[in-house]
Amino acid sequence: MPAPPESAGDGTEESVEMSGNVWRPCSTCKKPIHHGTKYMVCSVSTCNRKRNSYVFCSVDCWDAHLPLANHRQAWAVEETAPTR
Ligand SMILES: [Zn+2]
Ligand SMILES: [Zn+2]
Repeated sequence: MPAPPESAGDGTEESVEMSGNVWRPCSTCKKPIHHGTKYMVCSVSTCNRKRNSYVFCSVDCWDAHLPLANHRQAWAVEETAPTR
């Protein structure tokens, strides 16, 4: 019988990204946005409410938000995450 293939060693998630250095996850891809790094927000005010604000790690992720949000006019605004 064939031997089972050896595990490639991806049994654990990348724990580096789980550190306390993460500010918020991207609203689209859930990739962590780290403190002090650039991120994008939506220009539409309803997307920037404190309780319901969207943050995006890239313009691509903001772009993916557009068809869901159904904005008439919107653009991406570059922001920098707080350092702490
Ligand atoms: Zn993203
Ligand atoms: Zn929006």
